[in-house]
Amino acid sequence: MPPAKPYEREAIARMSGYTPGEQPARPVVAKLNTNENPYPPCAAVMQALHGIDGNALRRYPSAMADGFRAEAARLHGLTPAHIIATNGGDELLRLAITTFLEPGGPLGIAEPGYSLYPVLAALHDSPLARVKLADDWSLPADIARRWNAAGARLAMLVNPHAPSGRLTAVAEIAAVARAFEGVLLLDEAYVDFIDPARGYDSMPLVRELPNVLLLRTMSKGYSLAGLRFAYGIGAPALVAPMLTKSKDSYNVDAVAQALATAALQHRDEAARTWVAVRAERDRVAAALGARGFSCPPSETNFVLAAVPASRGGAAALYRALAEAGIYVRWFDQDRLRDKLRISIGTPEENDALLAAIDANG
Ligand SMILES: *Cc1c(COP(=O)(O)O)cnc(C)c1O
Repeated sequence: MPPAKPYEREAIARMSGYTPGEQPARPVVAKLNTNENPYPPCAAVMQALHGIDGNALRRYPSAMADGFRAEAARLHGLTPAHIIATNGGDELLRLAITTFLEPGGPLGIAEPGYSLYPVLAALHDSPLARVKLADDWSLPADIARRWNAAGARLAMLVNPHAPSGRLTAVAEIAAVARAFEGVLLLDEAYVDFIDPARGYDSMPLVRELPNVLLLRTMSKGYSLAGLRFAYGIGAPALVAPMLTKSKDSYNVDAVAQALATAALQHRDEAARTWVAVRAERDRVAAALGARGFSCPPSETNFVLAAVPASRGGAAALYRALAEAGIYVRWFDQDRLRDKLRISIGTPEENDALLAAIDANG
């Protein structure tokens, strides 16, 4: 037999896949590595789950998640035509690529950012138009111009930023979108954790700009990472091709639609967890600061902590914490190797983290 040639496309053979955070099988002391909400989903969501009728499973679900889209439209003061429901935010990212980017055309990104974007680009045979964030994690003023120069027709930005937690103002995003010649996907996976006092409201971007697509997910704010449900918000003309052509016919299942709708209807209950997470975020950042770790201000449910040199490196601390049953995230990447990304847990979990750090100091 001739030497085995892989059956998969060359691009797939060449690329490496996305590395998800660990989901340890054993119970752990504190799982602070994948930015899950530490509180359970609200009671109404669990009731909706128990109330699922066999007929809802026997039949195909609403192909366009009409009930959910009506609810999301109400919440945001838009119309259902502005909304597309997807199987997690990750599906929306993939849909945006297949809909707006010619195969092989460059994807605009800012680095560091969400490590799934380059993986999705590689699947599409697309190179990256990479722009480095400034030292304070802010956007370079010429980012849109550089994406344009590279010929990018789609770009992805995460705001608040992951993994730094930094929030960019809407006016600054609007300026980037106006200057950019393609579609700007603004990944707002962590938007629910922004302090309301910051007055962040991205809906004007959708109303005023034809090329902005917002990503919202139920995974973080609504404690539903296991459900796989998210949605995109954009001008109807931007959303329509995804909704009517490029998505799978039944991309979100009946159970997920029912639960996600209940979650939005009872948003106030989820919002109580956001208040708790913000309070703990500020406490954890201050406690880490007192131990010599510096954390840029975060508007998310995690902090990016720079590990002081005296502690033998972030990777070593990451391993010592895992040994103690405390899972955090360490990225073997430029500008991140000396840092740990730590999700905000319950007060007890956060105390366990701080105690383990002290025990390893
Ligand atoms: C969590 C996350 C998403 C979406 O996650 P899903 O669970 O697929 O909805 C998107 N972008 C970033 C930066 C995230 O952290």
